[in-house]
Amino acid sequence: MFTEILGNAALRCAENNSGNESDYVKDGLIYCGLCDTPKQVRIKVFGKTMTVFCDCHCQHKEYTHQQNILHEQEKSLAVSNLRNSAIPNRTMHSWTFDNDNGSTPKLISTAKRYVNGWEEMRAKNIGLCLFGNVGTGKTYAAACIANALIDRGIRVVMTDFSRVINAMQSFDTKDKNGYIDDICSCDLLILDDLGAERQSEYALQICEQVIDERAKNKKPLILTTNIPLETIKNPPDMKYARMYSRILEMTVPVQSSGTDKRRRTHEDNMKWAKEYFSGP
Ligand SMILES: [Zn+2]
Repeated sequence: MFTEILGNAALRCAENNSGNESDYVKDGLIYCGLCDTPKQVRIKVFGKTMTVFCDCHCQHKEYTHQQNILHEQEKSLAVSNLRNSAIPNRTMHSWTFDNDNGSTPKLISTAKRYVNGWEEMRAKNIGLCLFGNVGTGKTYAAACIANALIDRGIRVVMTDFSRVINAMQSFDTKDKNGYIDDICSCDLLILDDLGAERQSEYALQICEQVIDERAKNKKPLILTTNIPLETIKNPPDMKYARMYSRILEMTVPVQSSGTDKRRRTHEDNMKWAKEYFSGP
């Protein structure tokens, strides 16, 4: 039985062992002409000496190389699957530190620090609240954090309350709780654009539920919002007080003060159009 298994393995090795012209025989064993190491080995099985094929150095190197390629392909597929389920907005998949245009250096540097210190952020349950005007790169910075951590195989969910509220409306009670558990149990939850969802009692109730559940999970939360920090600290409408106070407990406020990316793009377009129409 054992001899048979060994024989089969040697046979497989022999099949892979394509000889080349420079191979030679030394001491009764075939040697590789390229790396000068044996392609055969003598083994003793139950007192009987057998000569079987084995990998020479260069074949072993090639095998390891192929295995590494396969491993990288598997890893890249796993990361791609992770990203697809983590960030439903596909446009944001390319919002990375590498693709950053440098318009909000301070914010991007904060985002990089968060990623570099991730283990500690996770252990100490520290989140961020990126606040500032529309189009100042908050969502971009948050997506950079998400993509960089996903590359490291970390489970991230990046969504927004409008999406959560819409999803919740389509579920029955049991599925609703399952859905909230799902998004709140990941390693990092990013909720984009707090305050942009429709303002109703029902919407507020869902936002509160998600933030409460996340707080219970003791895992970090990153928020982006156009709501001024002053309003979060001193809400004029008391119905938001509880949720805002939770947010302040869970996150470090970070001001984004870049120029309005959307307006700048529009300004660029207008500049281009003026030149275009003033041409001959
Ligand atoms: Zn060789």
